[in-house]
Amino acid sequence: MPVTDPELIKIVESRVLNKKICRVCGARNPPTATRCRRCRSSNLRPKKKALAVKK
Ligand SMILES: [Zn+2]
Repeated sequence: MPVTDPELIKIVESRVLNKKICRVCGARNPPTATRCRRCRSSNLRPKKKALAVKK
């Protein structure tokens, strides 16, 4: 079910997408993190994508 309410999309984006994912163990870290909280790796990727944009 696609999310269409713009207010909901904002909330979901900030809660779910505004994070960093560890490339080593896959843990979710705060967007301010520079190192993984689980394995201490600095190999993080930002998880900021537009919601449900499928081509
Ligand atoms: Zn990690």
